[in-house]
Amino acid sequence: MIIHLDLDCFFASCERLRNPSLLGKRLVVGGRGDPFIFDKKPAQAKKLITLNSGAFVPSLFHASHDASHYFNDGDKIRGIVTTASYEARAFGVKTGMSIYEALRLCPDLILVPPNHLLYHTLSHELMEYLATVVPVMEQYSIDEMFGDLRGWIEEEETENFIKHLQEQITKEFKLPVSIGASSSKWIAKLATSTAKPYGIRVVPKKEIEAFVKSIPIDEFPGIGKAFSAKMSHYGIKTVGDAWTSETLIHSWGRHGKDLYARLTGSDNEPISASRSRKGIGMSRSMDHPVKERAELFRRISVMVRHWSHTIMKLGVNPTTYAFSLGYENWGSSKKQYTTYRLFNEPFIQHFAHEKFKELDLYPHIPIRYIAMSATKFIHHDPKTFNILEYDNDTKMRSLTDALTQMREKYGMDIVRGGSEL
Ligand SMILES: [Mg+2]
Repeated sequence: MIIHLDLDCFFASCERLRNPSLLGKRLVVGGRGDPFIFDKKPAQAKKLITLNSGAFVPSLFHASHDASHYFNDGDKIRGIVTTASYEARAFGVKTGMSIYEALRLCPDLILVPPNHLLYHTLSHELMEYLATVVPVMEQYSIDEMFGDLRGWIEEEETENFIKHLQEQITKEFKLPVSIGASSSKWIAKLATSTAKPYGIRVVPKKEIEAFVKSIPIDEFPGIGKAFSAKMSHYGIKTVGDAWTSETLIHSWGRHGKDLYARLTGSDNEPISASRSRKGIGMSRSMDHPVKERAELFRRISVMVRHWSHTIMKLGVNPTTYAFSLGYENWGSSKKQYTTYRLFNEPFIQHFAHEKFKELDLYPHIPIRYIAMSATKFIHHDPKTFNILEYDNDTKMRSLTDALTQMREKYGMDIVRGGSEL
């Protein structure tokens, strides 16, 4: 069988691990669009952490936030609920809700700023442990994993196995987890969601139909609001309704066929054991859109410094770069470029600035969003790099190597670029 693990209110559980007085409390972990990265004052503790754990994208974190002011912006309360404890959910607090709204529903709510480094570290450690007990594991997100038990655990042993696994995770990591199992990935994931919190649920192949029958269609993994509205328009309100609408769903083309297979547990989608990292990206949304271009480009320099550091640490050489700017009026400007250069920080700073200048088509409109990503990694082979630039790039590369080591040791702000000051 295929198993699916989902850590219960994961970020809140991690915080409770660090501070047990939070156990049993109405608690949320909330986030803001990281306003701290752009601080002009160099910070001592600001270290950049990269974990090459693959499945989830950028791991760029600062060591800690000051909890007392994190959610305040003057006299306004900012931020969005990332994770709510079950005690807070009882008051209607949920993920995606504004902190302001959450406090209205539950005035004695405890607010905790995010510590992504802690979450990633614990997730990574759990994954390492799971790899020792289940031969094929896939990290699906920071708090969800799939595992393939086929050829490893007999079907009738599944329930015992996941029960034991849940106990082991509780014992070793003190993290509550729910585990589902079925013959397909998406039915296993659905089984987990019906078992939460802290439950287990096995749905053998022959019981899938009875299990999914009355589940609302929008609770099926991957079916969003818009799509479930479309299905409801055709009278499909439950997964059971979908089962009896094969011809209709198949008529929606490739996507419809894939969807029908998932809904019926006949998709045969494999567990992908190693998802290697395909890109390194970084993006920031701003609570206050930035109008001043000098400030915008200062922020771009800060982001490129962090982004470049991650690329260096992971030891990859990208050849394709994408940049995008989001405007306050929700318009955006984006473009992708390919260049064969030996990666180094002066190069990428210069390149990014040049491209962002070209992209900024509406310099009078404030910017609310900045994003950059690097993909198409190649190995260091001088023959494929731009020969004209290669000598200089090699020198700059050595310099960047030295920078990377210094930042690892003394923090990200130890060397900043001239354009940031
Ligand atoms: Mg979870």
